[in-house]
Amino acid sequence: MARRDHQTLQGSFDLLIIGGGITGAGAARDAARRGLKVALVDQDDLASGTSSRSSKLVHGGLRYLEQGEFSLVFEAVAERRILQEIAPHLVNPLPFLFPVFDTSRRGVFTINVGMWLYDGLSLFRSPKIHKKLSVKEVRKLEPELRSKGLKGAPVYYDCATDDARLTLETALDAAACGAKVATHTRVTGFVRGPGGRVQGVTVEDQLSGKTQEVAAAAVINATGPWSDRTRGLDGVFSSDRLRPTKGIHIVIDAERLRVNHAVVGFHPEDGRVFFVIPWGEQTYIGTTDTDFEGDPADVTADAADVDYLLRATGFYFPGVGICPDDVISTWAGVRPLISEEDASSESSVSREHLIRLDEDGLITIAGGKLTTYRRMGAEVVDKVVDLLRMLGHPMELRSADTDIQPLPGAVGWPPDDDHEAVACQIEEAAGGAVAKDTARLLANTLGMRGLDVAELAARQPALAARLVPGRPEILAQVVHAVERELAATVSDFFIRRSQLYYRDREQGLGAVDTVAACMAERLGWDAAQMQEHAQAYRAEVARSRQWQAG
Ligand code: FAD
Repeated sequence: MARRDHQTLQGSFDLLIIGGGITGAGAARDAARRGLKVALVDQDDLASGTSSRSSKLVHGGLRYLEQGEFSLVFEAVAERRILQEIAPHLVNPLPFLFPVFDTSRRGVFTINVGMWLYDGLSLFRSPKIHKKLSVKEVRKLEPELRSKGLKGAPVYYDCATDDARLTLETALDAAACGAKVATHTRVTGFVRGPGGRVQGVTVEDQLSGKTQEVAAAAVINATGPWSDRTRGLDGVFSSDRLRPTKGIHIVIDAERLRVNHAVVGFHPEDGRVFFVIPWGEQTYIGTTDTDFEGDPADVTADAADVDYLLRATGFYFPGVGICPDDVISTWAGVRPLISEEDASSESSVSREHLIRLDEDGLITIAGGKLTTYRRMGAEVVDKVVDLLRMLGHPMELRSADTDIQPLPGAVGWPPDDDHEAVACQIEEAAGGAVAKDTARLLANTLGMRGLDVAELAARQPALAARLVPGRPEILAQVVHAVERELAATVSDFFIRRSQLYYRDREQGLGAVDTVAACMAERLGWDAAQMQEHAQAYRAEVARSRQWQAG
């Protein structure tokens, strides 16, 4: 495993999960570890929906404290701790600076009390306990930050992650435990038995056009912002349980705006939370929160969204003069929020999840956060097990242990979390074929699986070639993505197996033909298919740049 395979969905399953975002992947991992025969299908790539378009934070959500959602924060900070243990290469502590100004709604004292509560809810097991910085200290640590009216700034700790890779590794672990994972496979309808009970689904392979029926004793709808649409697929049911909202981020070069902490603020015009997050050689800024209607697959940033973030950046970093030309890339996602009749504004809609068993046996899970996916997975699989018991379906279950079993890249990771030591190991395994920056990239994204890429490059030095001059990504990552990480299109590689789409000034366009040719060789594409895949990626980049047209 894990190469995309057309035979994946042969046979019948105890459980079929629709949606390979973090929610579906988490449920698949939990169920497969318990011993269920599981299929996980996604109409596109793993994490191609909201799960690669988040703010990439594994966090308790400090702002939920203000809304009095203590149990949500308690649960999330406990999960943050578990994810640091099971995915230390992907979930890394990040200091957050919370500047307080004379015009702020809350003073330094109140915010500090909130920080104590936040640390307390994590039972004081935060990556580090918060501290209070004086105006002088803030000026020294974040020299570009607005100093007019600054009163001080508490610093607290949460974690940053790579959302797409967290999803991918969760699905890969499910596959290693026996789950069948079918990407680019759209569920087009339900197979119904006596009384209309859901007993499987019909699927269409989006790459070959082939259709098939897949039998499953239980079916979970984990399609995030699509979940109402999925519910209504065959016209038997329609529902409106979601109130989707759109959020965008922009990426700029750290040379234009370098921050040493994630800076948390409130948009000066409407008070919405706003983050500026250090991301290696880049910095990203988010997010917006506006009601969204339409197909989540079509969501993109528009000029008004980008301008909204630039105005807030201008307020917090007045001397820097960030302008639209500085924006390298954007991403936009749809939050699958649960609808609340009495929600007065988008930002007050609850992030908690909902699990629902309908009369026809379909189980829908929606809402929640990236951070709490593991717990959501366990909860929804409990529901599946109850249903299967009720149906008299034979099962032999064991404990899933998802809280202690490492994700694939964390197997063998040093207990002292020394990323640099892993980078050295990777460099050594490559026998001089890869440079330090590439070794670091591999350690920080693939974890110990970076050694596989290094060995590939050592065996075939041509695969050590850089994809983009000056950037660390190499051709061996493309081969690894196809052979071991289910990459099946050029976009899968650029957007979710590497971050070239976001980080490179050209969004990887200079390397499209090289990547397409390498994938064609391994996936048996003819010249026309190779062009099609390359073109589809170019179109994806063009879509993400539409905002530039105004
Ligand atoms: P998705 O990731 O959208 O997955 C659903 C999948 O279903 C998709 O891949 C789609 O292709 C598939 N699908 C749909 N229809 C079909 C079909 N018919 N057949 C087959 N497959 C289908 N959470 C955090 O914890 N931290 C954060 O920092 C954070 N920031 C966020 C910022 C933004 C702007 C947004 C939008 C969300 C953020 N979240 C964050 C929330 C988090 O990202 C989401 O809760 C989570 O990613 C939802 O995952 P999901 O698997 O439920 O949905």
